[in-house]
Amino acid sequence: MTITKGVIMLESSASSHVFLIQSDENLLIDTGNPGAFAAIWSELRSLGCDSIAHILLTHHDVDHIGNAQRLQEETGADVWASGEDIPYIVGEKPRPGIKRIIQGILRPTPPRINGSYSGDQPFGDIRVISAPGHTPGHVMFLYRRVLFVGDLFAIKQGELRLFPRFLTWNSQVVLESLALLKTLEFEWLCPAHGHPLQRNDAVERFIRQY
Ligand SMILES: [Zn+2]
Repeated sequence: MTITKGVIMLESSASSHVFLIQSDENLLIDTGNPGAFAAIWSELRSLGCDSIAHILLTHHDVDHIGNAQRLQEETGADVWASGEDIPYIVGEKPRPGIKRIIQGILRPTPPRINGSYSGDQPFGDIRVISAPGHTPGHVMFLYRRVLFVGDLFAIKQGELRLFPRFLTWNSQVVLESLALLKTLEFEWLCPAHGHPLQRNDAVERFIRQY
């Protein structure tokens, strides 16, 4: 699905979305659940994309970093993550609670991390926005009025929904990150789980709550 020119949501990782930003250097946002590498890579090539320069991770969860290592190996892409989440990605810290069990079952191979976002810094034309709470270092990305929200919330049947507490590192911090939404200029919301949503009344109502 094309969100806007040069911004594509891949079909090959529907349970946890991977987004492609096509420009001089192609870039991926998140990498889906482990095991989807072949499908993702085949879809990328079918889109005429045979090189990836950068992979930006929203956070450390297994369903977001799942194919980063294989994509990195295949394309030579560099992989970026937030400093607070890198220890979980590379296996220096165990993921908490149920996430440790998921990690034990899916056993993702960690990518090599080439760089970390520091604060709210630009990454080329992309604004990296620190939005912790789901994990300690969770970030969002803003590119041409498309806001990639990672797991700050999900969108199911047009409804914006918060994640349950057992999947959340700190619910209070999530609320503080949600308050950022009213300060950002966006036209599209792209969650990792659910369906992209163009700004509408439901979005306005959701934003006003925080
Ligand atoms: Zn997720």
